[in-house]
Amino acid sequence: MQDMTIIAGGAAISDAPHIGRHWIGGVWADSADGATFDRVSPSHGIVVSRNARGGAAETEAAIAAARAAFEAGAWSRISGKARAAVLLRVADLIEANAEPMARIETLESGKPIAQARGEVSGAADLWRYAASLARSLHGDSHNTLGPDMLGVVLKEPVGVVGVITPWNFPFWILSQKLPFALAAGCTCVIKPSEMTPSTTGMLCDLLAQAGLPAGVVNVVLGFGEPVGALIARHPQVDMVTFTGSTAVGRSIAAAASGTLKKVALELGGKNPQVIFADADLASAADAVTFGVYFNQGECCNSGSRIIVEESVAADLVARVVALSRKVAFGDPLNETTQVGAIISAAHQAKIDGYVQAAVQAGAVVELGGGEMQVPGLPGKFYQPTVVSGVTADMAIARDEVFGPVLSVLTFRTLEEAITLANDASYGLSAGVWSENVHTCLEFARRVQAGTIWTNTWMDGFPEMTFGGMKQSGLGREIGPYGLDEFVEIKTVAMRIGRTRANWVRG
Ligand code: NAD
Repeated sequence: MQDMTIIAGGAAISDAPHIGRHWIGGVWADSADGATFDRVSPSHGIVVSRNARGGAAETEAAIAAARAAFEAGAWSRISGKARAAVLLRVADLIEANAEPMARIETLESGKPIAQARGEVSGAADLWRYAASLARSLHGDSHNTLGPDMLGVVLKEPVGVVGVITPWNFPFWILSQKLPFALAAGCTCVIKPSEMTPSTTGMLCDLLAQAGLPAGVVNVVLGFGEPVGALIARHPQVDMVTFTGSTAVGRSIAAAASGTLKKVALELGGKNPQVIFADADLASAADAVTFGVYFNQGECCNSGSRIIVEESVAADLVARVVALSRKVAFGDPLNETTQVGAIISAAHQAKIDGYVQAAVQAGAVVELGGGEMQVPGLPGKFYQPTVVSGVTADMAIARDEVFGPVLSVLTFRTLEEAITLANDASYGLSAGVWSENVHTCLEFARRVQAGTIWTNTWMDGFPEMTFGGMKQSGLGREIGPYGLDEFVEIKTVAMRIGRTRANWVRG
């Protein structure tokens, strides 16, 4: 502990709880039965938000509002230019309101304030990119079907979309989905995580200010049961887009099968970074350190599993341990903090369980390996942790630990590295470090992952599509493919002459 960088808590805070209500048909609403739930800050222990707790009645009302808005056409049938204008105004409003949104995101999630600010204001760019897609969305034409035929393929909004989001990047993940669904002309019912509901609610005010018609976006606050599950199985919902755990993703796909609605799933990952002996080890060590501690490791893209060429493994681990000691862990409200609090006590216990089981199985804790107390704060924090001697059969190497915990495995040949990288039920992202472009390309072509980084980690752009293979998900987000998830394809075959012979003879 003495050799780590700990940022103590600042002065006591006295933020009044944010009052969260449902947003249905353009009106704020409490639950019919008056039920509420509180979100307590995992770092500061205060009640951050007091929220209406949705039930079946609110969920039904929100779905009905979204359906009515979709059928009315005030959003679904207007021009791409008009939709883009609203999305651009929302982007400006997000930037103007980033500060209060970032503070509440930090207090609800435990993530550092500087990062939360970057995520909220950075999300504006996703809205701007989606606005550009709203104007360029188009189908296809077929002018080679013969002299009397013309074919047109139309792209139409899929309809009412259920949006179910997790707690780790509440506003960013919402913005990977919502502006794209809106750009396509869909209407939406959103259920944010019960851990981090507030910024989704705050967005509703901005949508109204930007001129989005009432009922196009509706938000129901509450838990997976009943709100999320009802959205997933409801016959009036045409599609569900979900980000969260693989277990809940599976249950959503099962619930959605009843009505065969479209499903897009962004799920977990156990993302390998493979480091070859010829890599720039200084850069690799920095990126590994960033990849495992970013967002407390509570990140679907966490680089939680490194696979290092045996000859440089000790050197790389020593570098990562030295860097880990310098990473600022502690008070999420401090501007200098890089790693904040763990989302809940239960999750902290789960993280620690993986580390202790690995030690029992023969792995070696090189740094950390337990909870830590941050002076002046009551919350839950976990030490930066590096575990070496991990083998592919250990749970710490296979499961998503979702904490600031790095597992180190080693390899001797490229074949072995690729086999180890692909030895996972997940396939979200992967990285390769080598100065040899052929090594990087061979790895990129053979690894089973939706995103591959070469000599970098976790760079992302609205233009570059994101999503997972295997049990990391279904479908893609952002980029042009992200918009395609929210459209139906309609074929129009047009007879433009009278040259076709009648079917009925005589
Ligand atoms: P979670 O699956 O527990 O919850 C996600 C959302 O689903 C929440 O809003 C929750 O209330 C809701 N939910 C729970 N049960 C439900 C049900 N039966 N029906 C419908 N909705 C239900 O996930 P989490 O703990 O909030 O987030 C962490 C997980 O999310 C991790 O596994 C992480 O890898 C994953 N994640 C994936 C990505 C990605 O893009 N691939 C991004 C971020 C997080």
